[in-house]
Amino acid sequence: MTPEPGRMTETWGNCQPIAAGERFAFVCAGCGDCCRARRDLVLSGYDLYRIARRLSLSPRIVAGAFCKSYVAPQSCLPTLRLTPDPKTGNCRFFEGSACAIHAARPLACALYPLGQSIDTVTAQTAYFAQLPLCGASAGAGQTLQDYLQNSGVQERAGADARWAMVCTQISAQLLAAGGAEHPHFAAAVKRIERALYYDYALGDEFYPQFQQNIAALQPILDKLLA
Ligand code: SF4
Ligand code: SF4
Repeated sequence: MTPEPGRMTETWGNCQPIAAGERFAFVCAGCGDCCRARRDLVLSGYDLYRIARRLSLSPRIVAGAFCKSYVAPQSCLPTLRLTPDPKTGNCRFFEGSACAIHAARPLACALYPLGQSIDTVTAQTAYFAQLPLCGASAGAGQTLQDYLQNSGVQERAGADARWAMVCTQISAQLLAAGGAEHPHFAAAVKRIERALYYDYALGDEFYPQFQQNIAALQPILDKLLA
């Protein structure tokens, strides 16, 4: 399993897996440290869609205003990363001492201080704690299940697992076709970016649109990368 994008990259080696019913002692102290110096916050299409809905702006406009778009070197996938405030280095949604988009915060933020990895064959998800845990001690603590429920991670788990699986499949196809060496690589990346991030109507639910986008994308990719 590979760690999913998020804030776990710096300390992933020290992370400890947590079982569903296992308790861990954590209460957010509201210090805001996880919103400072966040340079590794990669967004999924669902993350972008939720922020776009929260701001009543199209996904493309949100990406243009708040994100850096690039092709990830290992996967060859188009990727979006939230860019920090150039003056403070903090996340640009960190206002005062709170998140201005709290209800629509990205998965990595909702999970923190946990990290997640998804088996892209079985869709099985594992969770890890970044140690030492930040925040205040919670006495007997809470179970992983309760934490995922209360942070809104549980209700989006299906979409996040599907996202990881689809991205893995598309990446494999790109790499098998020779990646950036393929003559139609740039066109393919552009089309993938649309399907993953941009072609979403905010008045409609994300997941059915995602499924439709991927179904429409596949024959185009097959042709482009043949
Ligand atoms: S999106 Fe919100 S929770 Fe996430 S880093 Fe930015 S301010 Fe913090
Ligand atoms: S999750 Fe941790 S680092 Fe972030 S505000 Fe809460 S206590 Fe602070």
